[in-house]
Amino acid sequence: MKILVANRGEIARRVFRTARRLGHETVAVYADPDASAPFVDDATVAVNIGPAELSLSYLAIDRILDAAVSSQATAVHPGYGFLSENAVFARAVVEAGLVWIGPNADAIEQMGSKIRARGLAAESGVPIIPGYDQTQTEADLAEAAARIGFPVLVKAAAGGGGKGIRIVAAASEFAAALAEATAEAQRSFGDGAMIVERYIQRPRHVEVQVVGDAHGHVIHLGTRECSVQRRYQKLLEEAPAPNLPDVTRHGLQTSAVTLAAAIGYDSAGTVEFIVDDTSGEYFFLEMNTRLQVEHPVTEAVTGLDLVELQIRSATGQPLPFEQDEIVLSGHAFEARVNAEDPGSSFAPQIGTISHLTVPDDIRWDSGVVVGSHVSSHYDSMVAKLVVSATDRPTALARLALALDELVIGGLTTNTGFHRWLVDQPPLVEGRITTRFLDETDLPDPPPLDQAAATAAAVWVGRRRTTASSRPWASLPDFSLTPHRPQRTVLLAHSTGAVFEIAARSGLPHPVASVADRSVAVNVAGVTHTFRVLDRTEGWAPAPDVGHGAADAVVSPFPAVVTETPVVPGDHVSGGDVVVVIEAMKMLHALRAAGSGIVAEVRVAPGDQTETHQVLITFEQDHR
Ligand code: ADP
Ligand code: ADP
Ligand code: MG
Repeated sequence: MKILVANRGEIARRVFRTARRLGHETVAVYADPDASAPFVDDATVAVNIGPAELSLSYLAIDRILDAAVSSQATAVHPGYGFLSENAVFARAVVEAGLVWIGPNADAIEQMGSKIRARGLAAESGVPIIPGYDQTQTEADLAEAAARIGFPVLVKAAAGGGGKGIRIVAAASEFAAALAEATAEAQRSFGDGAMIVERYIQRPRHVEVQVVGDAHGHVIHLGTRECSVQRRYQKLLEEAPAPNLPDVTRHGLQTSAVTLAAAIGYDSAGTVEFIVDDTSGEYFFLEMNTRLQVEHPVTEAVTGLDLVELQIRSATGQPLPFEQDEIVLSGHAFEARVNAEDPGSSFAPQIGTISHLTVPDDIRWDSGVVVGSHVSSHYDSMVAKLVVSATDRPTALARLALALDELVIGGLTTNTGFHRWLVDQPPLVEGRITTRFLDETDLPDPPPLDQAAATAAAVWVGRRRTTASSRPWASLPDFSLTPHRPQRTVLLAHSTGAVFEIAARSGLPHPVASVADRSVAVNVAGVTHTFRVLDRTEGWAPAPDVGHGAADAVVSPFPAVVTETPVVPGDHVSGGDVVVVIEAMKMLHALRAAGSGIVAEVRVAPGDQTETHQVLITFEQDHR
């Protein structure tokens, strides 16, 4: 076959990998901002389908079908997100004479509305959350909420991706919450219909992977725990779900298969449940009629390739095994690596990846490489880090190690948050609920200068341990003057600030990782990545100002200066924008790392800069 993947980034690469392994040709479709993305190179053929706007590219059914015709594709895989749960698309693909690598359109449709799905679950004897999904007047919904008892959840019937959901604690808040959720649902799904449900108090999100074929055969591949969530979206997943009473686990698995069989399910899919951690009771949430982001943890514990199973089912082949041949072994975790800042409400971040060190004994499903620009056009997930081991504690320890070793430069990601998370007792014990992040304050991230001091200490420490095996000449900060303290020159990727710092021991931020020439300090969800500069790298040594103040701001990459808002003599504080540069059609504000006085402004608007070129220097503010 020649398989077109109607998606982008890591999921397109994931599907291509299996397609190639099975000897199929591949077609990538891409929007303009993705022209140089790695997934485009991975495919046998690539077709541009339009501009950044989703409705004109990744969501444009006609353009994708045109691309299938022009590239002579014979099959379409939708990935997840985008058109993956769109029955109209599934039908259009089949009507165009192509193989649809996904569930039949009727099954997608039946589960597309949560109202209909609740009804089907109830008919199949699968427990549903006590709730109301009938007439949509505000009065009826409010009355239902009062009957169910607060707190309740209002939830978009057409929802997905955590959108259109609000918790309502009391009757007085109901009208406002309903209005917000309805507006969000209308905006995101073009459908404002709402469900009111009892809010489960100690909720765990546990789901069951199912897979079916076109011959009426459905089996399950065990459970996944996805309770670590922010804004009802998953951040960390594991398989199998830990600490489930046997009766609960068995019930979940049986319910999932029953429901999938009832709708003639014939591909890979996921039935999601809420488990009440206090009682072990479980309730049906929704069914996702597609491959799921977190499918790799199931692959890790079953040894199966879910995309391969999807391709088999799509081509009419029966499932190659029976339920009792499925053996789960070991334990797996997946951390979603998102370009977001957990320190400021998980706000999405943009940036260009300047450095990437990935530990080599993990599964790394990623859409990016060094040089990739993460823009605001698409969702913030850039990669998934997957580890597995024979048991849960070992898998968790490997995850911690992998997060310590992972270095992503040039982009703020949530890897430091994940590293903090893996030490939290509820996660360690396998008893985390979806409320955990709401109930827990993240520790404060260190100021940039403290992070730089930590990075310097880590760098010098590593130099000592590797000194015997590495030539002195390769060490950028080696000094033969014994009376002068070791000083390290560091460039902060996030701001372009340069620190010349004497390493101090005993600093409180041990979560740091070292790669070739960079050091990353991860604390509380914030990763500060520093490049260790050579004294010869175009950066002029500044006066000895000691630990704490940055001496200069340098250009983190080649760019053009667009603004220099400061003049010599200005007092600046940490975080003040001191120069703005433009690169790859993006403006980047470079900020002072600490307080000081501007000594020199060495560039003017319009100047071209080189990597590491000094733009602004500071002297210490002695006020
Ligand atoms: P899960 O498969 O874990 O349930 P979600 O339901 O949150 O994940 O959504 C599936 C995935 O599809 C998202 O994590 C995201 O990567 C992708 N996705 C969803 N909506 C969009 C969108 N509008 N644009 C790009 N990607 C999207
Ligand atoms: P989506 O389609 O956006 O994924 P879901 O129905 O799967 O919507 O709900 C998303 C998340 O919201 C769940 O994983 C769970 O954390 C939470 N949630 C949903 N319904 C309830 C409920 N009734 N009580 C408590 N938490 C809920
Ligand atoms: Mg869901």
